Amino acid sequence: MADIVDSATRSRMMSGIRGRDTKPEKLVRSLLHRRGFRFRVNRKDLPGKPDIVFPGLRAVVFVHGCFWHGHDCPLFRLPGTRTEFWAAKIGRNRANDEKVVSALRMSGWRVATVWECVLRGRMKDVPGSIDALEVWLRSDTPALELRSPVIVPVTSAAGPPEAASGTGLAKPCN
Ligand code: ZN
Repeated sequence: MADIVDSATRSRMMSGIRGRDTKPEKLVRSLLHRRGFRFRVNRKDLPGKPDIVFPGLRAVVFVHGCFWHGHDCPLFRLPGTRTEFWAAKIGRNRANDEKVVSALRMSGWRVATVWECVLRGRMKDVPGSIDALEVWLRSDTPALELRSPVIVPVTSAAGPPEAASGTGLAKPCN
């Protein structure tokens, strides 16, 4: 079977790994700036070098690439070659993300994670995401995660129990 991603896609993925100014980040920064927010970028003295830092609001924002951070979404697919290598690498990234978030939270920072899939791809909602970020920034809510809507399979064997109630179709018990 051929490799899942072609070389152009792969190099786009690679360019995002340590990228300071990957496109989704730039987009979020410029839209927040337009709404009057002022911030710092990539503060090296904070765990995980957050992409956007709002010192006065005690808030940081990470813009996560769905490939590198192993997001469970349509933008993520493990490459068909060197699969174990990628799985291990992405697993380490995810573990590190968790450590970073808890270190920041422990020092009193509020943390928002914005996944790439709300900014590009078929599930994106850029205005809605920026609205949500703005509301969060002005709140005192400790955490926020913005991701594309989860696609729930229609035929789920173990659906939530509340799904059956209120439909008027429940069978009588006896
Ligand atoms: Zn995603």
